[in-house]
Amino acid sequence: EAESPLRDASHIAAGYHFTRPLTDMEIQVLWPLICIRLCVIVTMAAIAAEEDPLHEYAQISARRAWQTLEQLTTVDWREAEISFREACGLNPLAEQRPWSVSGLLAKRKKLIGPSLSLSYDEPLVIIKGRGQFLFDHKNHAFLDCVNNVSHVGHSHPKVVAELSKQASVLNTNTRYLHPKIVEYAERLTATLPAPLRVCYFVNSGSEANELAVRLARAYTGRKDVIVLEDGYHGNTTTLVEMSPYKCEGPGGNGLASWAHKVSKPDVYRGRYRGTGKDVGKAYAEHVRQCCERLSSEGQPPALFICESILGCGGQIVLPEGYLREAFRFVRAAGGICAVDEVQVGFGRVGTHMWAFEVQGVIPDIVTLGKPMGNGHPIGAVITTPEISAAFAEGMEYFNTFGGNPVSCAIGMAVLDVIDEEGLQEQAARVGQYLVEGFHSLSEKYPLIGDIRGLGLFIGIELVTDREKLTPATKETAALIELLRADGILLSAEGPHHNVLKIKPPLQFQQTDADLLLGAVDRALSEICRSTTSN
Ligand code: PMP
Repeated sequence: EAESPLRDASHIAAGYHFTRPLTDMEIQVLWPLICIRLCVIVTMAAIAAEEDPLHEYAQISARRAWQTLEQLTTVDWREAEISFREACGLNPLAEQRPWSVSGLLAKRKKLIGPSLSLSYDEPLVIIKGRGQFLFDHKNHAFLDCVNNVSHVGHSHPKVVAELSKQASVLNTNTRYLHPKIVEYAERLTATLPAPLRVCYFVNSGSEANELAVRLARAYTGRKDVIVLEDGYHGNTTTLVEMSPYKCEGPGGNGLASWAHKVSKPDVYRGRYRGTGKDVGKAYAEHVRQCCERLSSEGQPPALFICESILGCGGQIVLPEGYLREAFRFVRAAGGICAVDEVQVGFGRVGTHMWAFEVQGVIPDIVTLGKPMGNGHPIGAVITTPEISAAFAEGMEYFNTFGGNPVSCAIGMAVLDVIDEEGLQEQAARVGQYLVEGFHSLSEKYPLIGDIRGLGLFIGIELVTDREKLTPATKETAALIELLRADGILLSAEGPHHNVLKIKPPLQFQQTDADLLLGAVDRALSEICRSTTSN
């Protein structure tokens, strides 16, 4: 153990450099290699301990290696590189970081609209991503448990390669014939049941839902929309006015006169609870009542729209039969039914490509977004030939960027990677493992009130009282900060901000699940300790 490991290492590097000069590249990788060497020591010791627990000599270096590793990981790699160069008498690095964290924060506050929030008490600077990991400006790794947009992993090499390949040849709009948009539409629709065969490509989930509303209005000649309590469908004027999560929250003006909300089917804390077969039906009954009321008032619904698993509402899995019944009532009233797969689509639920399939229904419209381009802004609306024909009777639909060849190349690369790397099956397997792990933790921590989800779309609801279901809002916020300090990125969801939302890139593996479960265990035990000592 050294008082200043970087200073000592710099002296040694300088001595080495004196007799055998180090190259720029060697100096750059020296610190990470020292860390990796220590990782090898502790890993070998762990293997040896398992194979021969009595072999003391095999453990002789492990304790000190751990201590040193913990010390070394507090050092910024770039700082180490600068120190080595200085000690070796080499030119300082030409390109120094042109910003500081505090400077960046101050400038952002001035230049970017203040309604855009930053996560965490002390914001993170994230500058690199790989697979299920994000890296800050000090090269510290964070396990990303929340970014479902980077569906097949941050900066996936195949997606990046397809992006740059197409971008270097052509990027135009849908007014010229191009094979990519046709091929992509063919591949996407092949994953969906008939008659969902017609695609519109857009740039975001909001644009997709905005178009879904227009399609429904054009097809039915009506205006009214039925949404779920706490639902969120996007950031445009129309969508905010029909998203209770936004318009009923701070700064909101309530639902528009044409938007109507029904109870969300929350089987944990809603008005009908449990896993009984009739729970889904009981909630769908509210859709029937809403349709009847609207029809009797002479404003029958154009559209019923529902997320296939409720995201902002608190990671809520729809009870069996809910959509089947709800769709029946809406269609009987002459309305059409859309599912919002912006959060949950593309194999995340593990058993199916699309989360609505779990409910055994075929919607009239499906909207897609977030994971579709693995971070590149694309979305889509997929509907029936009949609905799209009705929409074509009026004005032209033109979208400058939607469906451009680069976006389509990226979209296809995402589909390829899901298939080639078996990510849907992995979501099922790892999701199941995580849920089981959380069930074990719930035996130790009464704070864990409910564990729910499908595949790698999971919600963990924290309560301070399992009978009264008192939301553990404060504890959830504390947990998220503690996890961040432990290298895990998670966030809270639901109207009480007491639901941990777990929706990582699908590269997330069992070993990552172990990292997450271990960190949650440590954090919850700390939270319990501090609540009992208060
Ligand atoms: N629908 C759902 C269910 C969403 O969660 C979101 C975004 N959080 C949107 C639509 C809007 O997507 P975007 O932000 O890409 O416009």
